[in-house]
Amino acid sequence: MQAEAIFTGTEMLLGQIVNTNAAFLGRELAAAGICLYRQVVVGDNLVRIREAIDNARRRADLIIVSGGLGPTEDDLSREALAAALGLPLVEDPAARENVTRYFAARRRPMTPNNLKQALLPAGARAMDNPHGTAAGVFLEHEGKVYALLPGPPREFEAMLVNQLLPRLEPYGARREIIFSRVLKIAGIGESAVEEAVKDLLHSDNPTLAPLAKPGEVTLRLTARAKSQEAARSLTAPLEVAIRERLGDYIFGTDDDTLESVTGAILAARHLTLAVAESCTGGLLAHRVTNIPGSSDYFLGGMVTYSNEAKVKFLGVEPEVLAARGAVSPEVAAAMARGVRQAVGTDIGIGITGIAGPGGGSEEKPVGLVYLGIDFRGQVEVRRELFMGQRENIKWQSTQSALYLLWR
Ligand code: ATP
Ligand code: MG
Repeated sequence: MQAEAIFTGTEMLLGQIVNTNAAFLGRELAAAGICLYRQVVVGDNLVRIREAIDNARRRADLIIVSGGLGPTEDDLSREALAAALGLPLVEDPAARENVTRYFAARRRPMTPNNLKQALLPAGARAMDNPHGTAAGVFLEHEGKVYALLPGPPREFEAMLVNQLLPRLEPYGARREIIFSRVLKIAGIGESAVEEAVKDLLHSDNPTLAPLAKPGEVTLRLTARAKSQEAARSLTAPLEVAIRERLGDYIFGTDDDTLESVTGAILAARHLTLAVAESCTGGLLAHRVTNIPGSSDYFLGGMVTYSNEAKVKFLGVEPEVLAARGAVSPEVAAAMARGVRQAVGTDIGIGITGIAGPGGGSEEKPVGLVYLGIDFRGQVEVRRELFMGQRENIKWQSTQSALYLLWR
C-alpha cells in the first residue's frame, strides 16, 4: 500500500507551529509496513486542499489528511474531499453523536456551526474521536482509501493508532505493538557503558538506545512485535547479554530509582540508615524519604555544613579537620561513623565535597567529593570527581551515595 499525506494548516506555512503530526505519521506508517511516498503542507484553503487530494489520489492508494475538521470557516477538509471526489456531503449519525456527546459531557451549549462536523462525504464512515468534537473520516472510494484525521496532535495520534491503522489491516497494514524495557545503571560512566554494549547498538529489532543522565545511564530496549509476549521474547535475550556484561551496575529496571531500590533492600534486610551531609545539604535525606515507607529504615540525618557542626554533632576530631581539611577521606569516614553512632543505626553515610563554583583549589578542585559508608563499624570511602554546576554536583553525590548503599 502506497500512501501520501496532506497536512493542512496555515500556521505551519507561517512557521508558527512545527508539523509534529508528520513525524508521528511517518514513524507509525513505517512500523505498519505502509510506504509513505510524499508529504505536503497546504494552508487552510479549499481550492488548494482539494488540489492536493486530487494530485495525491492519482499516485497513491491511501491518502491521509491531517487537520481542518473543526467547526470554523477555515476547517475545510471534509468539503475538499467531497469536492475532489464529486460526492455530496451528508449528515452522519455517528459523527453527529461525536459532536453532541462532547458538548454534553462538558455541559456546554453547542453552537449550530458545530453540526457542520457531522457532514461527511457520502459513503464515508466516521471514526470515533474521544478527545474532541470532530470525528475522523474513513472513505473507501474507487479502490482507494481516504482518511481525514483531526489536527491537534493528541487527537491525531490517538486516532491514527486506535482507529485508522486497524482499519488498514485488510489492506496489509501490520499491526504491531511497541514494547520498551529500561535498564538502569549507576556507578559507571556513559562511555564505559557504550563501550561494553557497542556491538549490540546496531541491532534493529529490538533496538538498544543508551541515554545518560547525571549519575545514571539508562539502556532502553525496544521491540516491535504482534503481541506483548512476542516483543518480550525479543528483548529478553538482549537483556541477558547486557546483564552478563554490566550486571554489577544494573540497579533496576523501568520505573526503579536508586532510592526506591535501596529502600527495598534495607526494608527487606531490616537494616537501618542514618546520613550526615555536608555539600549535599540534605538532598540525600530528601531522596531517601521520597520513598513511601522509608520510616521503616531511615532513622535520621544531619546537615553538618560547618566544621564546628561536624565536630559538635558528629564527633569529627578538630585535629583531623585541621590536618586533612573538611573535604577528605578521613572526614567522610568520621562523618559516617559519627552519624551511625549518634542515631544508632546499622549503616551511616557521610558526604563531604566541594559543590562550587568557588572553593576549589588545585589540590582539591570543584566537584571533588568523598563519600563514607559505615556498615556496623566497617568503613569504606569512595572518592569522586564530578563535572558540572553546583546542583548537578550535589545530585551526582547523592547518586554515588545511593549506589554505594545498593552495592
Ligand atoms: P480543531 O477542531 O481544533 O479546529 P482541526 O481538525 O480543525 O481541529 P486544525 O484546525 O487544522 O485541526 O488544527 C488545530 C490545531 O492543532 C492547530 O492550531 C495546531 O495547534 C494543531 N495542529 C494542527 N496540525 C498540526 C500538525 N500537523 N502538527 C502539529 N500540530 C498541529
Ligand atoms: Mg480547526
